Amino acid sequence: MFDWLIVGAGFAGSVLAERIASQRGESVLLIDRRSHIGGNAYDCYNEAGILIHRYGPHIFHTNAQSIVDYLSQFTAWHPYEHRVLAFVDGKLLPIPINLDTINRLYGLELSSAELEEFFASRRETVEKIHTAEDVVVSTVGRELYEKFFRGYTRKQWGVDPSQLSKSVTARVPTRTNRDDRYFGDSFQQMPASGYTRMFERMLDHPNVKIMLQTDYREVRERIPFRRLIYTGPIDEFFDWKLGRLPYRSLRFEHVTLDCEQFQPVAVVNYPQTEAYTRITEYKHLTGQRNVRTSLTYEYPTDIGDPYYPVPRPENEALYKQYEALSANCPGVWFVGRLATYRYYNMDQVVGQALATFARIQKTIPASDRAPQSALAMPV
Ligand SMILES: Cc1cc2nc3c(=O)[nH]c(=O)nc-3n(C[C@H](O)[C@H](O)[C@H](O)COP(=O)(O)OP(=O)(O)OC[C@H]3O[C@@H](n4cnc5c(N)ncnc54)[C@H](O)[C@@H]3O)c2cc1C
Repeated sequence: MFDWLIVGAGFAGSVLAERIASQRGESVLLIDRRSHIGGNAYDCYNEAGILIHRYGPHIFHTNAQSIVDYLSQFTAWHPYEHRVLAFVDGKLLPIPINLDTINRLYGLELSSAELEEFFASRRETVEKIHTAEDVVVSTVGRELYEKFFRGYTRKQWGVDPSQLSKSVTARVPTRTNRDDRYFGDSFQQMPASGYTRMFERMLDHPNVKIMLQTDYREVRERIPFRRLIYTGPIDEFFDWKLGRLPYRSLRFEHVTLDCEQFQPVAVVNYPQTEAYTRITEYKHLTGQRNVRTSLTYEYPTDIGDPYYPVPRPENEALYKQYEALSANCPGVWFVGRLATYRYYNMDQVVGQALATFARIQKTIPASDRAPQSALAMPV
């Protein structure tokens, strides 16, 4: 009998396993249907000895010092500021759009003040901003929207930006200065020995047992546990009984080349005609030196592992119905990106897991061992 069964060994499940084991002294069985821990942040050394991210580039950035302090118990950090270029009209240009992007795209020499005027003369008036398209055309105008955003977003989500909620492009700021950093957060660093090593240290506790290649749906009636933390897709937990929540997936093509460097920055976006959305070159992220280099091409698709909740109002409404069902599952905690159907970054998932742990501490005294009859099975 385990005190806790935790489904999913990504950030959400691993942080909670660590907290419960180390702070409450309770036993945890952590399961994952994949063959490794770390969830989508999993990294590993490939056949060329280069550290790559199996599920696409994961860049750690946050403004929350408490989250840095928590993770720093399990890792040292390697300084890295993320920069992205977009391949547009045959040129590599900084993204988010800044002063250099516009000057180099159009062969101009605008100042910051002139760029303000440039945007002002091109932006469209949109009465009420509803969609991702509204956000961009009302900020930089239709031409830049077509060049930098429309194709990328259509590839990424499989639908036109006019059909997507404004939250999608609200994530991409536009600048009138020359700041070419992708993120503005106060802390931007990578785990010095990689994410997987950080997870291994986090889960190295005698109260934590790990079972990989184990699907919750196959073992839920066979493993005895008192309480459950579930970090998988919420619709799957309820056997999709209200219908399927749409997720966008990715196909990753990993390649290694016999040259030291392929592109000038870690990530180059392809918003125009290519079938892939972006290429990542990992050595820029990790600072690793090697005579060869490893890349990942990302091809968005509807088939495959669920990576991104699709931000449309009808999907949010369906999620709310599942959330209402979850409120009737005492003893089950739903945490993480898939269980709460939110596009959370890693730091936000760590924050959500730590907040969940604080609620567990308040509601369940550590000494209050639930009787066996309180088995936390789904209804
Ligand atoms: C391509 C890509 C790039 C990203 N880049 C960044 C970035 O640069 N910076 C950033 O901060 N965030 C990034 N993210 C987001 C980041 O991956 C997530 O915030 C984080 O991994 C979420 O952690 P999680 O534990 O909620 O979910 P996950 O990492 O998805 O972990 C959930 C785990 O549960 C397991 N699971 C699900 N169902 C079951 C079941 N029935 N039985 C057993 N196991 C199950 C899954 O196998 C998975 O391992 C990126 C995401 C993607 C997809």
